[in-house]
Amino acid sequence: ATMPPLLSAIANAGRHGVLVKSAVAMERLGEIDVAALDKTGTLTEGAPEVTDVRPLPDSGLDADGLLALAAAAEHPSEHPLARAIVGAARGRGLRIADAEDFAAEPGRGVTAVVEGRVVRVGRVEAHVGGAGEPGKTGEPGKTGDCMHSAGDGMHDLGDRMHAPVTGTALTATIAGGATVVLVTRDETPVGTLALTDRLRPAAPSMTAVLTALTGTTPVLLTGDNASAAARVAEATGLTDVRADLLPEDKVNAVRGMQDAGRKVLFVGDGVNDAPALAAAHAGVAMGRAGSDLALETADAVVVRDELTAVPAVVRLSRAARRLVV
Ligand code: ADP
Ligand code: MG
Repeated sequence: ATMPPLLSAIANAGRHGVLVKSAVAMERLGEIDVAALDKTGTLTEGAPEVTDVRPLPDSGLDADGLLALAAAAEHPSEHPLARAIVGAARGRGLRIADAEDFAAEPGRGVTAVVEGRVVRVGRVEAHVGGAGEPGKTGEPGKTGDCMHSAGDGMHDLGDRMHAPVTGTALTATIAGGATVVLVTRDETPVGTLALTDRLRPAAPSMTAVLTALTGTTPVLLTGDNASAAARVAEATGLTDVRADLLPEDKVNAVRGMQDAGRKVLFVGDGVNDAPALAAAHAGVAMGRAGSDLALETADAVVVRDELTAVPAVVRLSRAARRLVV
């Protein structure tokens, strides 16, 4: 018996290492006319390394103390940055204390009680340390305002952090393209950690093929800082870069494009990407490092972590649709 074209396309996608969840999902993948890509864990491998540990002078902590504190708070998290911080602490043979009352805020960071004190590890405000080039955020000035909605003093922390880090090597670290996270203890900044991640080798070719298929260069949507985003964009051939985005900013960016009549393919991996995956015309999640929520929300999952499979599946869908019509 001959299989309906969309079903054989699903079988073919499986051979490329992509699990497409339904015939409808397979069909939508071929209808997209622009792609929006997450950075960390999607264009990059999602296995960052800690490259700099910088306690603040009056924190009373040395580098190992700061790393151990951050690792204790991050231990329950499955975020790539958390795994890198815990891995670095283990690599240095540090004792990781138990954490209580752990809470993760997607796209922002984590909070936990470590040895009786509230420890937070998370994003540094764009304006902190003079890193302040907010990039093309689409809606200038909006990102900073969003921190108010966190309603938990993170905005104030950014302000208080401003003085201690301005003019330090941190500015250079951020400008060099690293991801920098701030560690606070009882709402007082105690230091920063810098992390860098490797680009996936197939990221430039995937971008080129998606550009050829849609006639539009894909858009980069990331929660990371503008310099880290620019570094990856340059290496990948992307020109439309929106950095410092909170999860709600990512979904708004996708909705904005769709309201303008585009059909968006969103490719992402994190819990923070789930709303954008749901809002997009078609959503594809990176399977290996991907969060459960992203995998559940996506129309298709790249099981073998090969980025070139993403445009391959778009092509398979288009070929199947030609047979259906
Ligand atoms: P991306 O959009 O590039 O995949 P995320 O939205 O996951 O990145 O994270 C955005 C930013 O939020 C990170 O660059 C970091 O500053 C902060 N962040 C998110 N989760 C964590 C965490 N578990 N620990 C520390 N910082 C975090
Ligand atoms: Mg990500």
